[in-house]
Amino acid sequence: MPNSIFVTKNRCTGCTSCAKACPVSCIDMVDRVKEAGIPWRKLAIIDEAKCIFCNACVEVCDKLGEKSKNKDVFHAITMVKEKVEGKNNVDVTLYKNVWIYAEMRHGTLIPTAFELLGLARTLAGTLGEQVAAVVIGKDVGQHAQELIAHGADIVYVIDHPSLENFVDELYTQALTELILKERPNKLLLPASTIGRSFGSRVAITANTGITADATELAIDPATRMLHATRPSFGGNLMATILCEKHRPEMATVRPMAFPRSPRVDGRTGKVVNVAVEASKWKQRTRFVRFEAEKGQEQDITAAEIIVAGGRGVGSETGFKPLEDLAHALKGAVGASRAAVDAGWIPYRHQIGLTGRTVRPKLYVAAGISGQIQHLAGMSSSEVIVSINKDPECALNKMATLSIEGDMFEVLPAITAEINKRRGH
Ligand SMILES: Cc1cc2nc3c(=O)[nH]c(=O)nc-3n(C[C@H](O)[C@H](O)[C@H](O)COP(=O)(O)OP(=O)(O)OC[C@H]3O[C@@H](n4cnc5c(N)ncnc54)[C@H](O)[C@@H]3O)c2cc1C
Repeated sequence: MPNSIFVTKNRCTGCTSCAKACPVSCIDMVDRVKEAGIPWRKLAIIDEAKCIFCNACVEVCDKLGEKSKNKDVFHAITMVKEKVEGKNNVDVTLYKNVWIYAEMRHGTLIPTAFELLGLARTLAGTLGEQVAAVVIGKDVGQHAQELIAHGADIVYVIDHPSLENFVDELYTQALTELILKERPNKLLLPASTIGRSFGSRVAITANTGITADATELAIDPATRMLHATRPSFGGNLMATILCEKHRPEMATVRPMAFPRSPRVDGRTGKVVNVAVEASKWKQRTRFVRFEAEKGQEQDITAAEIIVAGGRGVGSETGFKPLEDLAHALKGAVGASRAAVDAGWIPYRHQIGLTGRTVRPKLYVAAGISGQIQHLAGMSSSEVIVSINKDPECALNKMATLSIEGDMFEVLPAITAEINKRRGH
């Protein structure tokens, strides 16, 4: 028997608490037909097709019933959940395709959208399914072709003026409605500030599970399930997380952990303009304005050139020659955990297993030995230059170019040469 939910008419007082508690706005308060002995003017009606059977309405109504002196009212909502092997499973065979959320920032698709498309193509290839991208915002349909060129077979465009700026609640309702209608098999979001906050809300409202900040993702061909792996317990353990009984299987994916899917000109796909009923969405928060951080240095995850320092830097002021070289190369400054733990540079610069993953064209490492946890965050860099006193250190061995020497002599010499050649 499928899930079902109904309201016992004579117990409903029309108090609206259930409608307010519903995360997917599937409860309407309608005018009652007058009946003898029932003084209430409104009645709750639940749209079963939209209901995600999260139990929120049942809980709120039952709670009011417990407090009420009148034992004939409240406890008005009954939910009967489908039982499969004794568990509240979904029929996983009804869910198809690998979706990505193509995040926009200030009118532009973020690079991780293209990394997710590449990853989704690999996963969908194993499953023999299609790749779909969801783009949400105002006037965002223009980006559909770009997503198709980078690997999407279908692009769902959720376009509405109220979605111009990211607001958790609105975006969650918009995406959840689409998920419940289209039933994707897997859904990947970027592990960005927006993706982390948004993804967890969507997982809750769509009644499924999510793995946060995954660094490895694969499909088990036998079970067709997503194996999402992420560092746990401060990176001491790599945990592979499964979502067996609910769909879509969701994960936020660490930016730069996967290569971008290349652009293929002339690639074709389907664009679906999703109709929304924005007036039904609930909103307790609103976008006021965006203020960019002032004087913020380049973000390491977006940088094409990184100059990173480790314990060999020795102090906070020891980072000056790294900053000078990064400035000359128009790059960003990174660090090993040893330098961050010593308090010489803030955590946002940390590269590695428990820091950020980077994939620059050039990675210059000074005074970094190359322990496995550091390599986990930078080994996909195109060209690696290591400057170290110890020629036997692990990073010198794997670098494209290794320089044996004191970084306080080598770095200023490189910076001076670059500036000289540029005529500074
Ligand atoms: C669970 C867990 C998670 C971790 N996560 C991370 C992570 O995200 N990122 C990370 O980086 N580490 C991480 N670590 C720590 C990691 O194991 C190493 O301790 C750390 O990367 C070492 O940093 P380092 O190379 O700067 O220091 P060291 O290993 O001490 O190396 C310093 C190097 O500097 C060289 N040196 C010294 N002076 C000079 C000089 N004047 N000129 C040139 N070379 C010089 C030395 O020869 C040496 O090779 C993690 C560890 C654990 C257990």
